[in-house]
Amino acid sequence: MARILIVEDEKAINTLIKKNLELVGHTCVSVFDGEAVFEEMEKNTFDLILLDIMLPKLHGFQVIQEIIEDVPVIFLTARGAVADKVQGLRLGADDYIVKPFDMIELQTRIETVLRRSNKADKVFSLCDAKIDFSSRQAFYKDELIDFSPQEFLLIESLIKNRNIALSRDKLLEIAWGYDYGGETRTVDVHIHRIRKKLGWENVIKTVYKLGYRLEVRQ
Ligand code: CA
Repeated sequence: MARILIVEDEKAINTLIKKNLELVGHTCVSVFDGEAVFEEMEKNTFDLILLDIMLPKLHGFQVIQEIIEDVPVIFLTARGAVADKVQGLRLGADDYIVKPFDMIELQTRIETVLRRSNKADKVFSLCDAKIDFSSRQAFYKDELIDFSPQEFLLIESLIKNRNIALSRDKLLEIAWGYDYGGETRTVDVHIHRIRKKLGWENVIKTVYKLGYRLEVRQ
């Protein structure tokens, strides 16, 4: 998983992001102003920086211009103006997320940026199952297992958001899209199949009244 620097002066938000990213297996360092970015980058190397714009000491737009290392940046900001977005991206940011955002959206954007910069994990193993994200294949005890595209999307979401509860609605939306008029019962049926096919009966937990969580000990 990746090493991520979180630059956000609102302590509660910074802590929340850190907690969620660590749950899925990333290693995070938090800093709370623009100058601290450079002190931290002298000590450590990072795969990704989450960078707030309105920061004490040094503005996010200044920070990104002074970073000399080749490390992807995602702006996190309360400012949703199009001009800000354009400027952020023009300054070299890889993505731009407007607060408030949900954690699953943040995880997804992070994964996309890491994949683009070749820093994402390509294979995930748990129990006797192995998932290969680049070939989009799944194996159980080294045997190739057949999955529908929807099932693969469900597996992928559970893995990328491991240890986080995902609602049935969210999973339905991820695998079948917004416009699909199906019922959340569909999710249950497919999760049941995934559990059986991958031998994940004990690691895909049912979360009471909500949905499912893939439990991975770190
Ligand atoms: Ca701020």
